[in-house]
Amino acid sequence: MNHSDKHDAIRKNVRAFIAAERTAGRIRAGQSWTTFDRDFSIRCADQGYIGMTWPKMFGGHDRSPEERYVIIEELLAAGAPLGSHWIADRQSGPQILRNGTEHLKHLVLPQIAAGRCTIGIGMSEPDSGSDLSSIRTSATKVDGGWVLEGRKIWTTNAHHADYLIVLCRTSPKSEDRNAGLSQLVVPLENKGVTVRPITNMAGVDEFNEVLFENCFVDEEHLLGEPGQGWRLVMEELSFERSGPDRILSTFPMLSMLSSYIARDPDRHATIELGRLVGRLHSVRSLSLEINQALGRHEDVGQKATMMKDIGTTLEQDIAEVSRRLIDLSPRQDGDDLTTTLASAILNAPSFSLRGGTREILKGIVARHLGLR
Ligand SMILES: Cc1cc2nc3c(=O)[nH]c(=O)nc-3n(C[C@H](O)[C@H](O)[C@H](O)COP(=O)(O)OP(=O)(O)OC[C@H]3O[C@@H](n4cnc5c(N)ncnc54)[C@H](O)[C@@H]3O)c2cc1C
Repeated sequence: MNHSDKHDAIRKNVRAFIAAERTAGRIRAGQSWTTFDRDFSIRCADQGYIGMTWPKMFGGHDRSPEERYVIIEELLAAGAPLGSHWIADRQSGPQILRNGTEHLKHLVLPQIAAGRCTIGIGMSEPDSGSDLSSIRTSATKVDGGWVLEGRKIWTTNAHHADYLIVLCRTSPKSEDRNAGLSQLVVPLENKGVTVRPITNMAGVDEFNEVLFENCFVDEEHLLGEPGQGWRLVMEELSFERSGPDRILSTFPMLSMLSSYIARDPDRHATIELGRLVGRLHSVRSLSLEINQALGRHEDVGQKATMMKDIGTTLEQDIAEVSRRLIDLSPRQDGDDLTTTLASAILNAPSFSLRGGTREILKGIVARHLGLR
């Protein structure tokens, strides 16, 4: 079997899994990779869809990045509810695999690969979002570990999560603002952790405020060395910004828009649809290129930054064009089309905020081009 036959076979298998899940009512209109469903994640794990590229000794499947891409692309395009494992599979697991202690790798990675572990991203704070190096959460070294004090906000899934990877200050601020930061993998069952859900614009408790008060974290849970936090966070953001989830969040909407237009084809609507599909085709090529570079362990920071901006702009435009062309009222409890429309409209504004805002991403690209 050659390379592309192998990928076709994988695609066929995952499509059969998706069709069965849809028929059983377990993939529904209005859902996406952010929708939390632990049971769905466990069924994905049973198929071998989580931790695909990780070594078998950590519960992974030793598959190639290309094979993983085929599977996640199909799941994302179907609007499957991947929220319980998505962040852990996309960025936290790879982060732990590269920088965690042996103890941590053996403790956490098999749980993720089994679909039974949710991890949150503990970067943003009430006064530090874009300007991440100004965070105030701090960890003080004590015998056998660290004591964490501080507050995180907008933490996706913290109310469901088993662990949070917390960016914290482990030595005082110096002239180099990015120095003295570290990342700790904090079990959220630890004493001294309080999680308060925040309801988003779509009426869903998706993100949270998380407080750490005198919270002890075992020293085995430090990623890398103390003070390496900034470099680690930048690496993590490359994984967060470069995946096909940054282009496919509203793919179910695009697909339904296409069927809607086909019912009564109109030249203007067809041109608008064609423009969206053309843009999707080219941004997908960039995403595939980045995926291959990540597989070769290359630095994809700049390309990932650009891709997140282009990809999320497309995702938002799909929602906006659908809103203009579909002559129906969006409803969160409507039929498949109106529910998908409501979900696309309500969630689209967040696409260009989470993982770095549009202005910040454009600033990074401009700096890379020597324009600032
Ligand atoms: C749905 C969702 C989920 C999220 N999940 C998580 C999560 O799991 N974990 C986590 O840590 N965070 C999460 N976030 C937070 C997200 O990363 C931040 O909202 C984002 O980084 C922006 O930070 P801020 O909200 O503090 O806005 P600010 O940084 O205060 O920015 C406000 C506005 O000013 C602009 N701005 C700021 N600085 C500059 C500048 N130098 N030049 C030009 N413009 C500038 C920004 O672009 C923005 O428009 C999530 C956010 C959303 C919307």
